[in-house]
Amino acid sequence: MLKYQAPLKDIRFLMDHVFQFQNHYQTIESGHEASDEMVSAILEHCAKFCEQALFPLNRVGDEEGCQFNDREVKTPSGWKQAYDQFVEQGWQGLSSPTEFGGQGLPISLGVIKSEMIGTANWSWGMYPGLSQGAMNTIYLHGDADQKQYYLPPMVEGRWAGTMCLTEPQCGTDLGQVKTKAEPQADGSYAITGTKIFISSGEHDLTENIIHIVLARLPDSPKGTKGISLFIVPKCHTDEQGEITGRNPVYCDAIEKKMGIHGSSTCVMNFEGAKGYLIGEVNKGLHCMFTFMNTARIGTSIQGIGASELAYQGALPYAQDRMSMRSLSGTKQPNKVADSLIVHPDVRKMLLTQKAFAEGGRAMLYHAALLADKMMDAHSKGDMDAYERYDDQLGFLTPILKAFLTETGCESANLGMQIYGGHGFIREWGMEQIVRDARISTLYEGTTGVQALDLLGRKVLLGKMSTFNHFYKQIKDFIKRHENRREMKPIILKLKKVVRKWKWGTLKIAMKASKNRDVVGSASVDYLMFSGYVVMAYFWARMADSAMTAQKQQEGMVPFYESKIQTAQFYFDRILPRSKSLYETMLVDPASLMNIPEEHF
Ligand SMILES: Cc1cc2nc3c(=O)[nH]c(=O)nc-3n(C[C@H](O)[C@H](O)[C@H](O)COP(=O)(O)OP(=O)(O)OC[C@H]3O[C@@H](n4cnc5c(N)ncnc54)[C@H](O)[C@@H]3O)c2cc1C
Repeated sequence: MLKYQAPLKDIRFLMDHVFQFQNHYQTIESGHEASDEMVSAILEHCAKFCEQALFPLNRVGDEEGCQFNDREVKTPSGWKQAYDQFVEQGWQGLSSPTEFGGQGLPISLGVIKSEMIGTANWSWGMYPGLSQGAMNTIYLHGDADQKQYYLPPMVEGRWAGTMCLTEPQCGTDLGQVKTKAEPQADGSYAITGTKIFISSGEHDLTENIIHIVLARLPDSPKGTKGISLFIVPKCHTDEQGEITGRNPVYCDAIEKKMGIHGSSTCVMNFEGAKGYLIGEVNKGLHCMFTFMNTARIGTSIQGIGASELAYQGALPYAQDRMSMRSLSGTKQPNKVADSLIVHPDVRKMLLTQKAFAEGGRAMLYHAALLADKMMDAHSKGDMDAYERYDDQLGFLTPILKAFLTETGCESANLGMQIYGGHGFIREWGMEQIVRDARISTLYEGTTGVQALDLLGRKVLLGKMSTFNHFYKQIKDFIKRHENRREMKPIILKLKKVVRKWKWGTLKIAMKASKNRDVVGSASVDYLMFSGYVVMAYFWARMADSAMTAQKQQEGMVPFYESKIQTAQFYFDRILPRSKSLYETMLVDPASLMNIPEEHF
């Protein structure tokens, strides 16, 4: 049976050797309390909670799903108890500011917590995950009263949060949002409309749910410029936060879906519900980006989690199951056959999963450190620095979201493949990973939409400034290591591909200035190309750190050796995928655009 063991050794390798978290924590206010001892205790407790409490509920959630009855949703058996434990142990407020009852620890620790939770039981983790996004939005855009009122119970985990954007006619194109917000005499707004696909829209885990809702004022401009953002609580509450009655916002159905059965996906009807404006009128989409960026980085965790869990499931099977003999000569003569893991193709599948899980984790932690710096600048009122880190994070966000979820789905499929026909059978748990992971490339902006965001908005409209910043980091790394004998093979390949990244970007920019369809036709290949380059950079860094750590030991340490070998595998067998992407991203869009619709 599938098991989850939190990869603490891999996590510590990144924290201690690749990114030097303790040094970083000395430079940010929230990091001063995060001593090595405290961090270790947090990681171990979190691992235990995820392995023992959450992972066993992953299967229960898939089997039972959520139950809908009379506008109420019941989560699967045991989920509420696990949530109560989560609240009791203070996990929700780990990285929230102390002034609102949180523990004030760095965001990066919260990201590592979310990674373990999301790998052990993604569907369960969506409930606190959406609350985190709602809290971040209120924290960054709410007024002082809203923060004081809503944040403490949310930080505690007593109240949860949602993100209400999608409507029946629009998911990607939010300019079509129709939900109405009518000003009331008391300064509030009456919110009326239907939102669909709302994750955690209704459930039995918390006493109140705070919906963050996009809606339109009666005389606001058409399109995205006329959308505002509102806090709409499920229940009315008094000054002390005690529940006094029901706000007319109801769940009228939940979706039956391919995976993530334990996560409620709700049709929400707002029937003149009382809402409170957050941020400025007609600036809702801007504020919502805070939520979406949190959620997008959160969704990249789903991809990493799928790679990790599918690898953890496939590895013991490949070691135990016997099939035929190795082509290069029998490896296990005392057994009836050799195990699957002797076969090159099975090794390729396992190493692909391992490379994506560990490479993805490195990309995520780099982003988490940027988020730490960004929030540190915000808390010190240094808005220039805040904007700078926000831009750097904004450049990486679509790459993380789309590339890591696409590779997560690939890893999940490989996990099933390694099991042969048994992978298709429910009992083994591998097919659940495939079904659960599949949504990750769709929600929070599809891969196609992330790709347009990266190439169109972040790279071309941003005049390549954040691209150049990240590109320079890689160039500097290359310069520092290109004369080291043991790093040479890796650095040569990195140098070549990163140069192509720059050239390819410039070529697309030139072509796009003459034909706008170039952006749309190149974007997904460009994003995937970028993903392979960014992951290559982090595999090079991991190889460097492993080589350095190895030198400080007597004899070869299998753990570091394995990191170096996986890096070599990545550069030999995964990075070359970038060659075909490079070619297709530069192809003229004619063969896509010249074919008339009736010829499809
Ligand atoms: C299980 C689940 C949970 C969800 N949770 C939430 C939630 O909590 N809150 C919430 O608000 N929403 C949620 N969603 C909605 C989700 O974010 C949207 O489904 C998603 O953003 C895509 O929108 P859409 O379904 O309307 O697809 P569409 O926008 O209709 O897109 C259809 C296809 O067209 C492509 N496309 C669309 N526009 C363009 C374009 N301009 N250029 C190129 N290609 C384009 C897309 O990439 C996609 O392949 C959830 C959805 C699901 C299924």
